[in-house]
Amino acid sequence: MTFSTHNPPLVLIADDDKVVRVCLRQAMEQDGYQVIEAVDGENCLAMFSKMQPDVVLVDAVMPHMDGFTCCQQIQKMEQHLEGSSTPVLMITGLDDEESVEQAFASGAIDFVTKPIHWAVLRQRVKHLLTQVKLYEQLQSANHELKRLATSDGLTQVANRRRFDEYLQQEWSRMQRDRLSLSLVLCDIDFFKVYNDTYGHQEGDDCLKQVAKILDRAAKRSIDLAARYGGEEFALILPNTDLEGAVRVAKDIQDMLKEKSIPHAGSKIGDRLTLSMGVASTTPCAIISPEMLITAADRALYQAKESGRDRFCTFSIP
Ligand code: GH3
Ligand code: MG
Ligand code: MG
Repeated sequence: MTFSTHNPPLVLIADDDKVVRVCLRQAMEQDGYQVIEAVDGENCLAMFSKMQPDVVLVDAVMPHMDGFTCCQQIQKMEQHLEGSSTPVLMITGLDDEESVEQAFASGAIDFVTKPIHWAVLRQRVKHLLTQVKLYEQLQSANHELKRLATSDGLTQVANRRRFDEYLQQEWSRMQRDRLSLSLVLCDIDFFKVYNDTYGHQEGDDCLKQVAKILDRAAKRSIDLAARYGGEEFALILPNTDLEGAVRVAKDIQDMLKEKSIPHAGSKIGDRLTLSMGVASTTPCAIISPEMLITAADRALYQAKESGRDRFCTFSIP
């Protein structure tokens, strides 16, 4: 997300007429807003990108670059700033049909005419700022909803839904680019006994610690650590071959060893350990993401069967 409103709100005034600027400033300051001024269209664009105002008042008629062009340019700049939509209020000389249509066509959200009716202008600015605030609240609520829908409530890493979605997405991307994709499935050893020994609450804490380690092991921005099921986690490693994935698995073992989480009930020592299945392939039409999961699952099973606290690998040619 981009801008959050200034406090007090920041109003950018663009008018080549100094007297009008002074009057506009006074009106805005009377309502408690901060004001910055631009003397023409180009100056307005520069101030806009530098100061990120909450609302812009633009005179339609200015030398060099008129208000309509200026308004269009502002819309263009905002296209590059996801989620941002600063309202522009156009001040037109006439309320003839053409000027009004041109103002809206340029992307202005509202307009007032000259000579300015001050009470009208102030109400319109106030209204626009309320809309900006509401829009921001809506965006941040959406952002939070998205986060909640894709992350695991306990451990804060990606949830199963996100895992499925991301695996599909990266599978297609790697297939297109002919790059390898690796998957690491991790399962905590003797975790049922851990719960029985320390209690469910401690069990939850332990899951959080393991998730943190996995999240750290997923170093690159395109790596994804997810909670796959109860005490099972998964790492999706795009553009990573088996050798690279093995390195990640070793990192996880090292970090877990360093953390040295006591596990008195473990049948293979007194510290918490993980078993992992590492699988790798170069996605193509005749294999599916599910086959990669099955391969990692088989490798994980092998790791469990051959003594736990280790990883086994499976490469799909
Ligand atoms: P193994 O070494 O073969 O993996 O044995 P295990 O005991 O880890 O495996 P099993 O599948 O028998 O038990 C998994 C346990 O994980 C059982 C369940 O109570 C626990 N578990 C799953 N989800 C949670 C959770 O959210 N919180 C806690 N505290 N425990 C969980
Ligand atoms: Mg399990
Ligand atoms: Mg387990």
